[in-house]
Amino acid sequence: MTPDEWAKWTDHHATLFDLRSEDDLAMFAKWRPLLAGFSLADMTEASNWIAANAASKYRTQHAELLIRRVTFRRADQTRKRREQEDREREGPDCGFCHGVGLVIGVPHPRAVSDGVWTPPYYTCAVTCRCRRGADRHERFTAEATQSNGRCPLPMSLDYYEAIVPEWGQLVQDRENRRKDQDAANETAATADRRAGPLDLTAVKRRIADRMAADRAAMRQEAERLKQARDEMAAMQENATIPFPTR
Ligand SMILES: [Zn+2]
Repeated sequence: MTPDEWAKWTDHHATLFDLRSEDDLAMFAKWRPLLAGFSLADMTEASNWIAANAASKYRTQHAELLIRRVTFRRADQTRKRREQEDREREGPDCGFCHGVGLVIGVPHPRAVSDGVWTPPYYTCAVTCRCRRGADRHERFTAEATQSNGRCPLPMSLDYYEAIVPEWGQLVQDRENRRKDQDAANETAATADRRAGPLDLTAVKRRIADRMAADRAAMRQEAERLKQARDEMAAMQENATIPFPTR
């Protein structure tokens, strides 16, 4: 505090507590090194606060109470500012919506039956559970209410999760399948680029050869079966032929 501000504050404090004696003035002089480092606004607030809230009947308590009040408020303000900053940071850093306030591309509840997301994989968007999501939810709800049913009411992530609890896994699975498909397509395209298009005449010939080989194998197999059956029949015949009697 400047000397002017110090004078203003001492006057304010003296008026509040009626501290006008010689002793009181001496006391203010002793307080100066302890309290003059704080701002006029902080000290005025602290004076008002101890007058209203603290047991400040004795002068000896004032300096300590004032210091405690000012430092408490400063810490409180810092904490509140940090919390505010945290809440603001929550937006872009939110793992669900990345600051958009909406979680998009989640399986539509009607496209999920018995925990399976069915083709053609309809999706929907729900409002996120972060601060920005809550803002969106509020705004969409207001819009829906004003639209007389033309705009649908938004669904929150919490509500949605109660209906489709496995949505995270479903999205992950679908994403993985899509990645596998992309990877397969990519590999095939690379092979096409390197080796040129497939020679279908050669493919047809290979298929014909393969079928001919299969037919030959089947014929051989049938042949073997026939032979085996013949041998068995012969054995049975031999067994049933009675020994010639003399
Ligand atoms: Zn979010």
